[in-house]
Amino acid sequence: MTESFPPPPAGGCSATPVLKQRGQHEVFCGLTGIVWLHRKMQDAFFLVVGSRTCAHLLQSAAGVMIFAEPRFATAILEETDLAGLKDAQEELDRVVHDLLARRPDIRQLFLVGSCPSEVIKLDLAKSAERLSAAHAPHVRVLSYSGSGIETTFTEGEDACLAAMVPELPATTERELVLVGALPDVVEAQALDLLERIGVGPVRVLPAPRADSGLGIGPNTVFALTQPFLGDTLGALERRGARHIPAPIPVGEEGTTLWLKAVAAEFGIGPDVVDRVTEAPRARARRAVRQAAEVLSGRSLFLFPDSQLEIPLARFLTRECGMHAVEVGTPFLHRQILGPDLELLAPGPTLSEGQDVDLQLARLREARPDLTVCGLGLANPLEAEGLTTKWAIELVFTPVHFYEQAGDLAGLFSRPLRRRDALKVGAA
Ligand code: SF4
Repeated sequence: MTESFPPPPAGGCSATPVLKQRGQHEVFCGLTGIVWLHRKMQDAFFLVVGSRTCAHLLQSAAGVMIFAEPRFATAILEETDLAGLKDAQEELDRVVHDLLARRPDIRQLFLVGSCPSEVIKLDLAKSAERLSAAHAPHVRVLSYSGSGIETTFTEGEDACLAAMVPELPATTERELVLVGALPDVVEAQALDLLERIGVGPVRVLPAPRADSGLGIGPNTVFALTQPFLGDTLGALERRGARHIPAPIPVGEEGTTLWLKAVAAEFGIGPDVVDRVTEAPRARARRAVRQAAEVLSGRSLFLFPDSQLEIPLARFLTRECGMHAVEVGTPFLHRQILGPDLELLAPGPTLSEGQDVDLQLARLREARPDLTVCGLGLANPLEAEGLTTKWAIELVFTPVHFYEQAGDLAGLFSRPLRRRDALKVGAA
């Protein structure tokens, strides 16, 4: 089988010095994760303890009326709460009791902290403990922070999953757990591939329901499908589970290496993976090749946003022929990203954290062909003649595993095609 990517560079970017920056940063907060998490956990409810700003963020990010109470809502902290004139704990207890009385289908309730609840030092962990005791065993109440002070947008998922892990039942079963919220169709593809390779039994975190039988113990092994799950990884290890290091399964190469690492853990050789995946690999390669016609030879600058930046840079450079100038990430978790870093050829600046003005200065000097950044930066940069891609689309679009590799490449080739077409039109 011919590979569409070059041989791995010796050591890759593993030893590349990282430019660490702490300054003003431009990213969404962790509340955003509720938009995709509530779809994965069918009996869960997310109650944001926040302000009207938080309610507006969720409303516009999710595109639904939050007051219709699908599976999340905001308990609004009024000015009297913020000024400490009312007992916010009592108010919260009342809101939760009313909600649970009205919605007996809720089995897991997440109290989600925000900037305002943090500022007034509302202890949501204590509230969750108290409310859990009051509503056990029917409802489990947990808490985590999605505040913009503490979290960037994908960290909300990490905080949520990490909060769930200590509460999961203990097991001695030898099971694989796929960790990370994937769209249902992508999760089904992953489970099908693993089954055909012969890996099993397999469970997923987050599980679709509280009573789905997911347990954690010393014989649990787990593989991450997202790179931003550092706290969840730590929580699973504290329960005795073992992490399988692998590149993140995006693109043909990442997916294949991820499957091979998981298969090896179950004593299955790479030849079996090659045989089972031959057809989807060929489809992925064909789909990526189309987008790569536009991407090949073009330069790339990734701002820190979703924490997917290093796996994406690996995919875009190795499978699409792009040339990375800078790869920024909010956090560089080496235990998770080590295998991706090893595949990334030395050359780009690796930066962790952000000082947005300094980074913009580097960008303007480099003038890359494509800039991947947050919504707030994209429009002004477009006005300066730079071509941009919104990073947030990467977490709302199915991008993992073979069948999505072409769509993933297409997300980056489309803005370049549009820019090329505009240039031709203007000529
Ligand atoms: Fe804004 Fe903070 Fe609420 Fe997020 S948590 S919407 S950053 S106020």
